[in-house]
Amino acid sequence: PTPLGPTPKLVIDLERMQQLPQEKAGPLARYVATIQSQRGDYNGRVLSIRQEDLRSLAVIYDRSPGDLTEELINWGVLDPEARRAVDAF
Ligand code: C2E
Ligand code: C2E
Ligand code: C2E
Repeated sequence: PTPLGPTPKLVIDLERMQQLPQEKAGPLARYVATIQSQRGDYNGRVLSIRQEDLRSLAVIYDRSPGDLTEELINWGVLDPEARRAVDAF
């Protein structure tokens, strides 16, 4: 393991996501709703997603995974620790 520990998980703050304007959070909210439905996981305050899913979201938002991660951190939806998860790509 590195001195910083294992790769952090990508954890979406669902309460924060719901406070964002629709034109920003809309595609993310739809993607997250699909995962919740597939898992049957509807009642969480947060949702852990796959690294793969960040790649898919980057395509949806037409950004690089790194740029999208910065945006999600700016929106308060991802923790700044998530940068290390994307560095691991
Ligand atoms: P699947 O990918 O065939 O996964 C089947 C089951 O294996 C999942 O059932 C879950 O119990 C477990 N599993 C697979 N990968 C992981 C993992 O990285 N971490 C954990 N904790 N468990 C894992 P589950 O949760 O009922 O999901 C059913 C199906 O829904 C999955 O089938 C997959 O097709 C989809 N799905 C669920 N969550 C996600 C997600 O975050 N991203 C994507 N792309 N698909 C998801
Ligand atoms: P953790 O991954 O650090 O998650 C801490 C808490 O955040 C979880 O407490 C849960 O309340 C919430 N949380 C994180 N991701 C999700 C999510 O995708 N959906 C929902 N609904 N809530 C989420 P909890 O459930 O008591 O779990 C405590 C710890 O147990 C987790 O810490 C993790 O280390 C482990 N754990 C729980 N479920 C799984 C799992 O499916 N796979 C693995 N590998 N570990 C799990
Ligand atoms: P986690 O459950 O702690 O899993 C951490 C990593 O272990 C996953 O990172 C993945 O690389 C690997 N892993 C765990 N279970 C499986 C599995 O059944 N099959 C495979 N092929 N790999 C597995 P990843 O994919 O980035 O997922 C991050 C977190 O997202 C997971 O942490 C879990 O909290 C959540 N997650 C991802 N997929 C699913 C899923 O299908 N169902 C549920 N309930 N949670 C999922």
